[in-house]
Amino acid sequence: LLNSLVKHEKIETVSHFAASVAHELRNPMQSIKGFVQLLQSHEYNRDKQVEFHDIILKELNDAESLIDDYLVFAKPTYGQLESVMVDEEISQVIKVTKPYASWQNVELQLLHTCEKCRVVADRQKFHQALVNIIRNGIEAMTTGGTLSIGVSNMQSSILIEIKDEGLGMTKEQVQRLGEPYFSTKTKGTGLGMMVVYSIIHQMNGTIEVDSEKGKGTIFKLYLPAADSLEEG
Ligand code: ADP
Ligand code: MG
Repeated sequence: LLNSLVKHEKIETVSHFAASVAHELRNPMQSIKGFVQLLQSHEYNRDKQVEFHDIILKELNDAESLIDDYLVFAKPTYGQLESVMVDEEISQVIKVTKPYASWQNVELQLLHTCEKCRVVADRQKFHQALVNIIRNGIEAMTTGGTLSIGVSNMQSSILIEIKDEGLGMTKEQVQRLGEPYFSTKTKGTGLGMMVVYSIIHQMNGTIEVDSEKGKGTIFKLYLPAADSLEEG
């Protein structure tokens, strides 16, 4: 009975989620359509064209990350598990978030790495969790700044620290992190952190958040190290 209740709840959450994703996708789609129509109907100068293309790209990025969040969350089972090199995955994540960061005047900095640190993960989900945290960090730095990332080995766990110099959060906001649809952004969905918590918990990891309003935020992810698995 409990099992079927849990299942039912999961289906309800997923379909609710699907409905809101579809709804949220209308915004970027409409905006993209509008700008493409403008570009078709007028002879804009080069600067204007570049400006419109930037907006279109940004909207496509938003739509893409919304779909990624949905796919990661709706996938019923935990996907293919593998031993993932944390450094490698972080380099990948930095690569894909760099354009978005520079667009927001944010510099991405890798503070310390851990060559041999591995975790057991569904690579795609792990990637998505890191991207979501980094995106939030970038978005919190409305006037630019530095987002720094560090990886360290803490005996049986791997610590990933993601630090921004952004808006920060109140205690109440920190507590609401991960709650579906909690967002303080005008165009936010409040789904990114829900996905992050769900992925990190699936990995048997924990999340610690240090935040100060007006100063910035540090996300600390503690994940079980995969060394023992490697040796076996
Ligand atoms: P969204 O980004 O669409 O608003 P998220 O679930 O990713 O949704 O984040 C929820 C909320 O958590 C954000 O709207 C913001 O208020 C807060 N938040 C998350 N990360 C940070 C951060 N690094 N700095 C400040 N606030 C943050
Ligand atoms: Mg977000």
